[in-house]
Amino acid sequence: SYFSDLGLAEPLLRALETKGYADPTPIQQQAIPALLEGRDLLGIAQTGTGKTAAFSLPSLHRLIGNAQARKPASCRMLVLSPTRELTAQIAENMRGYAKYLNLSVQVVFGGVPVGKQARALVPGCDILVATPGRLLDLIEQRALTLRNVEIFVLDEADQMMDLGFIQPLKRIAGMLPKERQSLFFSATMPQAIADLGKQFIHNPVKVEV
Ligand code: AMP
Repeated sequence: SYFSDLGLAEPLLRALETKGYADPTPIQQQAIPALLEGRDLLGIAQTGTGKTAAFSLPSLHRLIGNAQARKPASCRMLVLSPTRELTAQIAENMRGYAKYLNLSVQVVFGGVPVGKQARALVPGCDILVATPGRLLDLIEQRALTLRNVEIFVLDEADQMMDLGFIQPLKRIAGMLPKERQSLFFSATMPQAIADLGKQFIHNPVKVEV
C-alpha cells in the first residue's frame, strides 16, 4: 500500500517525499484511516514502528481540515510523552511532517527554566508536545489552558506509569474538553495501563503491531 492511498492531504504527502518515506509501516496502514475518521485509538506499539507518523499525519490532516484561529495560551493538539528526549524527538518529527503546513509546533519539558517556555506559549500554538509535570506547572502559572484541545495523544503510557506520572495524568485528563479525539499508546498493556486508558479513550479502534 502507498501513503497516497490513505487519503492524506497533498502537503503531507510532499513532506513524506522530502523525508524519503516510500510506504506506510503496518501501524501507519492500520491507524491512519481510522484516525482520519476521527476515531479514538488504542495502540500497542513500541518506538521504531513508525508510531509517531501514525498519529501525527492524520492529526495534522484533521487540524488543517478544521481551520481555527490560534487562541492565546492554548493549543489544538496536545501530545504527552514521558521524557524530555522523547518529547523533543516527537516535536522534531512533527515539525518535519508539518513542513508545508501553516501549523506551529511548541515543545515543553522539565529541567530547563520555565519562563522562556511560558513566553513562547503566549500567542498559542497548534500543536504542543509536553511532559506531564512541566505541562501542569505551566497550567498552574496560567501560561496555558487545555480548553481548546481537539486531539489528545498519550504516548508511552507504560513508561509514564513507571516514572510516577499517573496522578499528573489523571489531573490533566480532568482538564481536557469532553469532546475531543484521543489516542493512547503503550508498548505493553497490563491491566493497570488498560484501566488508565479507559479514562482517556472511548470506543477506540485497537491496533497492535
Ligand atoms: P517512530 O516509531 O515513530 O519513532 O519512528 C521510527 C523511525 O522510523 C523514525 O526515524 C521515523 O522517521 C522512521 N519512519 C517512520 N515512518 C516511516 C516510513 N513509513 N518509512 C520509512 N521510515 C519511517
